[in-house]
Parts: sequence; structure tokens; C-alpha cells
Amino acid sequence: MSVLITGAAEVVTGDPALGAGPAGVLERGAVVVEGEQVVWVGPQSQAPAADSVIDLGGATLIPGFVDSHSHLVFAGDRSHEFTARMAGEPYDGGGIGVSVSATRAASDDELRALVARRIDEMRRSGTTTVEIKSGYGLSVEDEERSLRIAREFTEETTFLGAHVVPPEAREAGESGRDAYLELVTGPMLQACAPYAKWIDVFCEPNSPHAFTEEDSRRVLEAGRAAGLGMRVHGNQLGHGPGVRLAVELGAASVDHCTYLSDSDIEALAGAAGTTVATLLPGVEFSTRSPYPDARRLLEAGVSIALASDCNPGTCYTSSMPFVIALAVREMGLTVAEALLAATQGSARALRRSDVGRVAVGCRADLAVVDARSHEHLAYRPGMAITRALDLASPVA
Ligand SMILES: [Zn+2]
Repeated sequence: MSVLITGAAEVVTGDPALGAGPAGVLERGAVVVEGEQVVWVGPQSQAPAADSVIDLGGATLIPGFVDSHSHLVFAGDRSHEFTARMAGEPYDGGGIGVSVSATRAASDDELRALVARRIDEMRRSGTTTVEIKSGYGLSVEDEERSLRIAREFTEETTFLGAHVVPPEAREAGESGRDAYLELVTGPMLQACAPYAKWIDVFCEPNSPHAFTEEDSRRVLEAGRAAGLGMRVHGNQLGHGPGVRLAVELGAASVDHCTYLSDSDIEALAGAAGTTVATLLPGVEFSTRSPYPDARRLLEAGVSIALASDCNPGTCYTSSMPFVIALAVREMGLTVAEALLAATQGSARALRRSDVGRVAVGCRADLAVVDARSHEHLAYRPGMAITRALDLASPVA
């Protein structure tokens, strides 16, 4: 069963060989999809026949967004924390405990329904691939079930038992901390690994709740030994060892990168084929922090991605168009560069080449912008003009 997608003002292919500029923008392009795969991309005037036709009526077709960093498995509400932060209270990573209590208290069905609703919100703003982390359970049982539920929605699941040291372990002082690290790298990892593709750690010596370089190395090496790929939360709250460690260990991605030294940038540029710098400007927005200079990273040769970090504490939005608008307005990217970072850049951060582009052989994970060009993604911030394209029941 083939479908011809036609009537597009632009198809942003992500392949410079197929269209103009780095994003490969094909004006009046068309796409043919067979099953779940793209089988043809080219000018509409040359499109082959297909079993059915979707007419986009002058809208823009883009690769569905790849959101390579989210924390969707949580219960509870932390809107007051956001309000307090906007009134001047600093963020130090401590509020995570509130979500941990609420998540532990929720049933499997409640958590499943919350994740389903959040995934639905993502699709409605154009996201078609999502990575989901655990990290609000922080016990063997609650981390395992968080990942089991996340796995019902995506294969890109990440074990983040090392999100923060949970309150009960913190109260026991240094020995509680050590015991928690034993748990994370031992029984908790063993229970979670069957449901996880990745391991992650909040490497942040600037937070009393998070983990040092030495702790982080231990967590990542244990995950690697259990067959998981590595990702790092690093350099969010201040300068620190996260980037250096991620590059040294060959992690797929180091995320946040809010505070980077010259040597961090040099290290990331040297590791561009291995480690992606994933920028999360929704966090800077929602914590009123300085934005990293994405333009400088690109010019240095760093491989960059954009993702939402959708989470209850520091960024409760999953809107990739919003993230793109911030990257353009605040971080010096062109709209095309930001769109590339939010699609094939974030696909690379998940070591995927089958998503993030509109190219023959790729998954038919597509999104539509109701506008004559992709520039409207940032030109019309906050407007609900982008959605994942449902090939079974398209609403053109
Ligand atoms: Zn995060």
C-alpha cells in the first residue's frame, strides 16, 4: 500500500543532495511512502503514481522531530516551584525529591496514562521519536517499573537511577550515598537493564543532590559493562567534568552543555563523530539561565542536537517548535540549522540513521508545518501549526 504525499510548498529532506542549503529544502517536493518506509523523494512534477494520495494543500513537510532527551515517567505537580523560581529562588536540583514521592505513590496504570498523554502532546507538535528516562523512582522496584512502562512507548529507554541521591540515602550522609551508588551500579542496574537501551547520570558537582566525576564514571562504566549505551547530563549548573568524561568514555551524547570552557568545546569538536552535544534551551528558559552559544559550537565543528528535556522540574514543555524558536532567537542558529539539530542531530545523539531525515530507506516519520516554509517554525513561536503526520488518517 503506497501513499503519495503531494501539494507541499517545501519538503525539508535533511539531505543537501536532494535540495537547497544544508537542510536540503526541496520546493514543491513530493514523497512516496510504502508501509512504514520512504521509498521516493523528488520534485512533485516527477512523482510516480501511488495507491493513495495525501494533498498537503501548500503546507511544509519536515522530518518528524527526534526528541532525544525527556523524562516523561513521573506523577505529581511542581508548578509552584516554577513560580517560586521566577520570583527569584535559585535551582539546585533538589526539587526532584517531590516528583520521586509522587511517582512512587502512583499506580502502574496512572503512570502509563500520564506517559500516554505526554506522548500525545508530543505528536501534536510534530515529535515522532522520543527517548524516555527513568529517574523518579530511585528504588529498584520503582526504577524497573518506570522503564517497563517507558518501553511500552519507545525503544529509546534510558536508566537514570543516578538522577539524584534519594532523600532517604542523603539523610544517612556519606555512607548512605555510597550505599546508593552500590545499589545503582548493582541490583538496580541488573533489574533495569532488560528494559533499557541507555544509561545516564546527572554529573554535576555543583549540585549537592547529584553526582561527582568519580561517581559518574562508576555509574557509566557499570552500565557499559551491562551492555547499555552511555549518555550524560553535564555542565548544566556550572563548569564541570561532564563533557570531558562523556568524551573520554565515548558516550553518545552529553546533554545541557550550558557552561562550556574552551577546552570542553575543543574536546567536543574532536569527538564530533562519537559524542553529540545536546542542547536543551527549554531548560535555560524555564530556569532563567544563560543560553549556550550554539553558533560557536557549530563553527568549532561540534556535532549538536536539540531536545526538550521535558520534565516536571526545570522544563515542562515537550514542544520542539518552541525549542527551535529559542535556539534561533537566543543561541544564534538559523531556522534550518535548528531544524537539522532537532531531527538528524538528535537522531545521531541516539545513534540512529533511520529517522530524522526524509530520505529513501528512512522511516516514514513525518511532520507537517501549516505554512509555506519551515522558517515559520521560529517565525511564529507559540503557534500550533506543526503536527506529526498520521498517514492512516491525515488531516491536511
Ligand atoms: Zn534531563
